Amino acid sequence: MKVLAIESTCDETAAAVVESFGNGVRVLKNIVASSVEMHQKYGGIVPEVAAREQVKSIIPVVLEAMEGEEIDAVAVSYGPGLMGSLLIGVETAKALVWAWNKPLLRVNHMAAHILANWIGAEVPELPAVGLVVSGGHTDLILMESLTKWTWIGGTRDDAVGEAFDKTARLLGLPYPGGPEVDKAASKVTEEEWTKDKNQFKLPRPLIHDPRLDMSFSGIKAAVARMVEVQKELDEKTKNLIAREFSEAVVEVLVKKTLKAIEVYQPKSVILAGGVAANRKLRDTLGREVEQAGRKFFVPDLKYCGDNAAMVGAAAIMRPEKSELDLRPEPSLAVV
Ligand code: AMP
Ligand code: MG
Repeated sequence: MKVLAIESTCDETAAAVVESFGNGVRVLKNIVASSVEMHQKYGGIVPEVAAREQVKSIIPVVLEAMEGEEIDAVAVSYGPGLMGSLLIGVETAKALVWAWNKPLLRVNHMAAHILANWIGAEVPELPAVGLVVSGGHTDLILMESLTKWTWIGGTRDDAVGEAFDKTARLLGLPYPGGPEVDKAASKVTEEEWTKDKNQFKLPRPLIHDPRLDMSFSGIKAAVARMVEVQKELDEKTKNLIAREFSEAVVEVLVKKTLKAIEVYQPKSVILAGGVAANRKLRDTLGREVEQAGRKFFVPDLKYCGDNAAMVGAAAIMRPEKSELDLRPEPSLAVV
């Protein structure tokens, strides 16, 4: 089966053509247009601006993806996300399936982040534990099959991506903050870190709590206090705070995932979502999961941020047929 997939949940407008391949999915086209630069001066996404940019980009992006392709179905993310942005993708998909007389497949955007791990030749063996880390979500999911998913833990307050973005803002780094904090943290040499780390201690909230609950708002508040007491927020200090922040967050995420392995005994562990692009998280979690004797999966960097290839992967691996009365669901849950 070959699918045209559309993604428009936030500030990326994306279209992809993907097809089934072995036990997973192969990507034939993957086009992404982003309005992220337009939001930089506001330090965050402005929904109205995002929606207007979606309108401008959707047809060019779909046309580029469809060049020379014949498809069997159209898939679209219908939530969670921003209502104005979601409407553009959903209404476009509905118009296309009506005109082409093809089936419409609806896709949960968060499930798509996870199912991005089915792109490629080697796919995860189930049961798996999925860790979804994005701007709006931090969840641990038990996947017993491609359709039987259970939420087993996650953040009680801020999402980890949100904590990265707020930390970046406190350090005077541009939006979106995650990659900037990652970059700043990587500038600290191991020598500097050994020498200075004791001056920059942040909490690891709930790390010793036996449950799979997490909390990231406390770390963010602690960064705010740490920034306040600095005599001078020079580049070296910023880098050291970014490094300690990354250490703290990754330690919590790794500890909770290892706890989930102990409790649920999965064959694989899957990392997904925008924050899965974080180098330290990919490396540390990958190493620890393999030491625990499980297979570790994380998408290629280009399939971590919002994209339509993952939407196509989800539509093929877990098809959900929809009628033309499909409506966006801005608060759609992961499971
Ligand atoms: P999503 O919500 O899945 O679109 O992911 C966006 C979130 O991922 C934002 O909060 C970004 O700051 C964050 N992010 C992207 N790249 C990185 C990175 N390398 N390290 C940490 N966070 C990141
Ligand atoms: Mg996303």
